[in-house]
Amino acid sequence: MKAHDGMYIGGAWRPATGADTIAVVNPVDEQVIAHVPAGTAEDVDAAVAAARAALPGWAATPPAERGAVIGALRDALAARKDEIAETVTAELGSPLPFSQMVHAAVPIAVAGGYAELAASYAFQEKIGNSTVLLEPVGVVGAITPWNYPLHQIVAKVAPALAAGCTVVLKPAEDTPLVAQLFAEAAHEAGVPAGVFNLVTGLGPVAGQALAEHEGVDLVSFTGSTAVGKQIGATAGAAVKPVALELGGKSANVILPSADLAKAVNVGVANVMSNSGQTCSAWTRMLVHADQYDEAVELAAAAAAKYGERIGPVVNAKQQARVRGYIEKGVAEGARVVVGGPETPHDQGYFIAPTVFADVRPEMTVAQEEIFGPVLSILKYADEDEALAIANGTVYGLAGAVWAGDEAEAVAFARRMDTGQVDINGGRFNPQAPFGGYKQSGVGRELGPHGLGEYLQTKSLQF
Ligand code: NAP
Ligand code: MG
Repeated sequence: MKAHDGMYIGGAWRPATGADTIAVVNPVDEQVIAHVPAGTAEDVDAAVAAARAALPGWAATPPAERGAVIGALRDALAARKDEIAETVTAELGSPLPFSQMVHAAVPIAVAGGYAELAASYAFQEKIGNSTVLLEPVGVVGAITPWNYPLHQIVAKVAPALAAGCTVVLKPAEDTPLVAQLFAEAAHEAGVPAGVFNLVTGLGPVAGQALAEHEGVDLVSFTGSTAVGKQIGATAGAAVKPVALELGGKSANVILPSADLAKAVNVGVANVMSNSGQTCSAWTRMLVHADQYDEAVELAAAAAAKYGERIGPVVNAKQQARVRGYIEKGVAEGARVVVGGPETPHDQGYFIAPTVFADVRPEMTVAQEEIFGPVLSILKYADEDEALAIANGTVYGLAGAVWAGDEAEAVAFARRMDTGQVDINGGRFNPQAPFGGYKQSGVGRELGPHGLGEYLQTKSLQF
């Protein structure tokens, strides 16, 4: 795989300050496919300095012109869509069709959306005798995970650029190659020097240096709760805004009036896609007692079909973590109806698609984010119990409700403590605000709400 041996800073690929590198591994066969430089605090310093220097010019660029640059970036990504899909398949392990349809296509759509939004967004409003200016927050430190590696980059960089902010990106160590492709696309699109900068490296080194940097005005982070809490604390101490997207344990609530087979099949697909590495996955299926056994059977059949098609998880650590959760589920008394902790292949970081029945709400597999192809099916006696179970975790990122008619599902969704709910299998909308209630995070990404995160307000009185 093609890799740059430098950092993209100030509009050019520059040698890294240190000699350390990160080996990029293909999770399907565990082979090293490339090396990228492991950034240091000095690299982060240089990138932040470049972003600060570029800020006044970019912030003063008319929004329609910023939109045109983001449009060119969209086109540059689209021109690379095959290379993007192949790269994500190589470094994340996701099957190529999924990489094409999701990992490459979604970020192109999101970038296109922000190209339009930059030009149409109201960066000014009138409130009585005041004119309120919505101004860029400044230099953004973006720290992204590996599960949707390009989507998470674009979901931060495109709105930041639309807002007039400049960016330093520290992508996940497991998926740096698609981040380098993104930097190439930004360069080709004519994103001015210093407006976008890339520092590859390790979280506790380059990531932490970026999150703590005095020259960064806002940190936008997606990843684990542990690191998110630390970044939130650092930002709080420095009185800086922060955007955190920290995962979830979302509920798929199937009400008795729903089309059970459809709700179960879509629910299983939702959990298994991307090998379960989706923060908004509906990893808890809630079924009425009368329909429980039938739902378990349907889910087992649907999950078994995924066995041959599913990709690996991203690395050995995640594989061990997910297997540990499956073992814990068994130890706590949940019943494996398909899958289990045994690895299905000798090579690669594979996990068998796994369905647990007889899961009680307090079990670890019903409370903690597993981030693997593991579904827990829970039983409820009535709607109030279903709601208590759905809301009974520290998370609140997403969810689903299925019912015979939309109004019944919407009435239930209104009572859920969560940031996004799909009604009877509603389609993904890349413009809809995405983010969490409770410990799923702070702030929203995507669409106009995502753009708003990168703005601060100034009011002028006349
Ligand atoms: P993670 O360590 O939180 O990774 C997210 C990003 O933060 C990566 O770029 C990471 O760099 C960086 N990072 C790590 N430590 C840091 C620090 N001290 N300061 C600043 N940045 C730091 O997550 P993970 O270890 O890859 O995954 C662990 C679990 O997190 C998963 O099993 C899952 O439950 C959850 N997760 C959630 C999401 C989500 O979409 N919300 C995404 C991924 C993972 P490195 O790549 O070098 O670690
Ligand atoms: Mg990590």
